Amino acid sequence: MAKIVPLFSSSKGNSYYIQGNGTAILVDAGRNLKQIELALAANDLSMRSVGAIFVTHEHSDHISALKVLLKRYNIPLYASRGTLHYLVSNDKVPPTARLNVIEDVIETDDFRVQRVETSHDAAEPCGYHITTPDGRRLSIVTDTGYLTDDAKKAISRSHLAVVESNHDIDMLKNGMYPYILKKRILSDCGHLSNEACADALPHFVGAGLTRIILGHLSEENNTPHLALTGAIDSLNRAGMALESDYLIDVAPVATNGKSMLF
Ligand SMILES: [Zn+2]
Ligand SMILES: [Zn+2]
Repeated sequence: MAKIVPLFSSSKGNSYYIQGNGTAILVDAGRNLKQIELALAANDLSMRSVGAIFVTHEHSDHISALKVLLKRYNIPLYASRGTLHYLVSNDKVPPTARLNVIEDVIETDDFRVQRVETSHDAAEPCGYHITTPDGRRLSIVTDTGYLTDDAKKAISRSHLAVVESNHDIDMLKNGMYPYILKKRILSDCGHLSNEACADALPHFVGAGLTRIILGHLSEENNTPHLALTGAIDSLNRAGMALESDYLIDVAPVATNGKSMLF
């Protein structure tokens, strides 16, 4: 069994802790170090167990702890070439950082981690498909305007997936955001809507996905209830039943002490 602990998830900050057999990896570090350490401690976890950090892209809600974190712990960092280039050029990592480009797939601490293509307005964004030391598979796909074929393939091969369910389209359209920001979020390089996420889920559950975490919910243009009911309704319509066919939860803005085994 492996475990994922969503530490933070929203445009205020994102970080996921994934535990295999004793070792762990962190995907994104988008709050300050103190907050991430406190979130780990609240789950009886520690940064000392983290063998590698993977970053999806350079937006601050995914990297804001990096510089201080890597100074304090010097854990190897993995990201795409474009993301690393941005981080170095913009002084977001310390000069001593152990940087590793992930071109396709790498193995570290018995985890196998493969890049997943996302579509987002960042230098070279990606998601990750992770195989834990005991062969359990999860995908983390957030910050994407649509689900690429690569992302669909990765999620279909997963036991657990964190899939973005960012906004309710009507709430966003009728909300207070400036037009230009609405356009960005709705674009192919923006964020995945509840509707797009919900539409895709039956295919994934049909392919064998049993655990779903809806992630990166907007605090302005979404509610956990809307995201969850949209997803469950869509799966119901496809004849897939909660509890017997799949489990689903929403990644909290900040850890609520819940984790998901897979
Ligand atoms: Zn983000
Ligand atoms: Zn982003």
